[in-house]
Amino acid sequence: MDLEQYLKDLEEIVNIDSGSGDLEGCRTMAEYFAGKFESAGFAVRISREQGKHPHVEARNFIRKSETIDVLFMGHLDTVFPKGTVRERAFSLDDGKARGPGAADMKSGALLAFYLAVEIKKRALPMNLCIAFNSDEEIGSADSVAWMKELGGKAKYCFNFEPGRETGAFVKERKGVYDYRVIFQGIPAHAGVAPEKGASAVIEMARWIWALTNLNAPEQGTTLNPGIVKGGSASNVVAEHAEMLVDLRYTKESELQRIERAFDEMAAYPRVTGVKTSWERKEGFPPMTPNKSTEEMIRMMKDAALKLGQDLPEFVSTGGGSDANNLGGLPVSVMDGCGPVGGNYHSDEEYMVLSSIEQRFSLILETITGIVNR
Ligand SMILES: [Zn+2]
Repeated sequence: MDLEQYLKDLEEIVNIDSGSGDLEGCRTMAEYFAGKFESAGFAVRISREQGKHPHVEARNFIRKSETIDVLFMGHLDTVFPKGTVRERAFSLDDGKARGPGAADMKSGALLAFYLAVEIKKRALPMNLCIAFNSDEEIGSADSVAWMKELGGKAKYCFNFEPGRETGAFVKERKGVYDYRVIFQGIPAHAGVAPEKGASAVIEMARWIWALTNLNAPEQGTTLNPGIVKGGSASNVVAEHAEMLVDLRYTKESELQRIERAFDEMAAYPRVTGVKTSWERKEGFPPMTPNKSTEEMIRMMKDAALKLGQDLPEFVSTGGGSDANNLGGLPVSVMDGCGPVGGNYHSDEEYMVLSSIEQRFSLILETITGIVNR
């Protein structure tokens, strides 16, 4: 690959602010890639719905079939607000690239593009589809249905989120859901008639403690009451309280266990008179390795051997990504395929330059192996 040109392109796109809240910036990024894919001869579709985050779909259509042999996924949004580029634009030093989204994941989207162009040039007999959305960092509400549809047609998927700091790929991600729990108590004067009240805050405290008992780290299940609020004054028995809870899990049965416990606690309050309700908010199911993921890992290891590279590692993580949305589908998914990086979502984010060509050739070799099977 032409690394010099890649870095020039990377500079150009890192220097476009495209925080998820910046629809204009997200559009600029989507149009940028749509243009690149079009000039490289791909069939391109871009969604331009008013008020929604755009997404780009590019295909090579080499086989007459709806099946997608290989799906590349990525997101064009970052967590950084408009104006970040002015403060800290793209820079290169010490073998690293920096700037908003340098690792997560403008370098990954660009790598997917370079790979796609190479695959097209070599006329590998496979249907390739590249799918970039621009609302991943805020839960992908505008793109999830489209992604699942593509995932349902695909055999193999490479998601170009950054590789781990160790260079590892990601074969498994936990499921993530947010829950809002609302406690409705009965207000009363804390001095004059406390017995007439039912404290929403005390009932919430009981829930918080119960959550720690629902944790089962050995099963991959953890709960975190990240935000709690309640009450109106110290001399009023609290009428209202609510909390936001983050759940991480790997097994469907664990999700059911937790939600059953929520139902039970809501049905039987410890503080008589408090009404509790809960709802599952945004999140993703787990991305769990299936049989063909193991096969994919074998093929990636074979490719590394062939290229004389160190054998890649494959890890599990508690963090979610869009790859989770393909969890449960037959497609085998590998994540962390982008260049290696660290300190994502912070000013200290960096991407390791030496990993660009390494991952390019490893993934290309793996895909060649897939085609020749
Ligand atoms: Zn990302």
